[in-house]
Amino acid sequence: MIEKVLIANRGEIALRILRACRELGIRTVAVYSTADRDLKHVRLADEAVCIGPPKSMDSYLNVPAIISAAEVTDSVAIHPGYGFLSENADFAERVTSSGFKFIGPSPEVIRIMGDKVAAIRQMKEAGVPCVPGSDGPLGEDGDENLRMARQIGYPVIIKASGGGGGRGMRVVHSEGALLNSIALTKSEAAAAFNNDIVYMEKFLEHPRHVEFQVLSDQHGNAIHLCERDCSMQRRHQKVIEEAPAPGITPEMRAKIGERCAEACRSIGYEGAGTFEFLYEDGEFFFIEMNTRIQVEHPVTEMITGIDIIKEQLYIASGEPLRIKQEEVKINGHAFECRINAEDPKTFMPSPGTIKQYHTPGGPGVRVDSHLYNGYTVPPHYDSMIGKLIVHGETRETALARMCGALSEVVIDGIKTNIPLHRDIVQDSAFRAGGTDIHYLEEKLRR
Ligand code: ADP
Repeated sequence: MIEKVLIANRGEIALRILRACRELGIRTVAVYSTADRDLKHVRLADEAVCIGPPKSMDSYLNVPAIISAAEVTDSVAIHPGYGFLSENADFAERVTSSGFKFIGPSPEVIRIMGDKVAAIRQMKEAGVPCVPGSDGPLGEDGDENLRMARQIGYPVIIKASGGGGGRGMRVVHSEGALLNSIALTKSEAAAAFNNDIVYMEKFLEHPRHVEFQVLSDQHGNAIHLCERDCSMQRRHQKVIEEAPAPGITPEMRAKIGERCAEACRSIGYEGAGTFEFLYEDGEFFFIEMNTRIQVEHPVTEMITGIDIIKEQLYIASGEPLRIKQEEVKINGHAFECRINAEDPKTFMPSPGTIKQYHTPGGPGVRVDSHLYNGYTVPPHYDSMIGKLIVHGETRETALARMCGALSEVVIDGIKTNIPLHRDIVQDSAFRAGGTDIHYLEEKLRR
């Protein structure tokens, strides 16, 4: 087993990784910016190294500082968490060439999956269902692009191959706007992602976001850990996630899950990963793969009983997968609410000092958060300050537990989106299950 892991992240995920390492007897190194000296995991880690000033560019994205922190502490491996450098192929390459183990797939695989056109091509080859589309980059020939859009059928969406975080996309509803939209998306993509390659897909009007969690080892073994529904979103940011996804049959789950596992084997994937799909009218359409741990991984852990971070550590240590596909069983239902330090109405960030913090409890309740009384949420980073996760034997029980947990939690001193969560869990359409990705924004407009 890896002896020492440097955690190249902050907040709740850094604490989550630290806890998994501790359970396995792995020593931990925290790295932190000068704004983050008081983070919980920095205090709990075996060693801690300051890597720079508050701005992410100078600290959590500062590759030389992170590599030298790994060197001075004799770390063996680096866990990137999510966000920051987690899907940066150049970083993974630097980690590897400096003699450390990057906990995740190879730089080559990260690079392919970060390029949407290349990723879709790989997935098609592996038999993963994709959105009907241009099957590659759009060329300069306007007539050809018009013909293609007509064949796919309007509305279509123009997407940047190098895009991410919901940026670099444009929906086109009619022929008159197509060529101009392609040109605009291309020039925006060139400026934002330094890559002007764009492609075209059918725009699905009422899809749900359903994603499959996978685990794949260094020896060609891969399994899937079922799916999550993350349709409750605002501005492409997930707000509540659940597992399993309502209405997905065991047959469909097995079929799509096995395609994802097969894709992992065919690309030589290593570690934990997620295949994201849009799901509409009973059909799955692949949109992208995330080559890292995801914020919402706990809902999968709750229904499968598998600790995904620990499995990442076993895989990175070179062990063959410890779980067989037939041993993966769904037990009950789980929800996760992302708690953000923000105004529940205006969504403006609300950093500041926590005056009172009481966590909910009871059977099936889990809180993944780095908060404590007196902790000051700094203004420099993502506003997510924790996750409230519940598990129940049925979806109804889990929902009742979430309602109870949300009524117990107290976070005083800053504004949070807990009032919004309390509202959503009482919403009749959400309670019925299966709302689409536009539901929350429509509800907020109402
Ligand atoms: P990003 O990497 O920026 O997250 P994705 O390809 O995952 O880009 O798409 C982000 C979001 O954009 C999706 O979750 C979905 O809401 C919307 N979207 C993307 N492609 C389509 C499509 N073909 N039809 C409808 N919505 C889409």
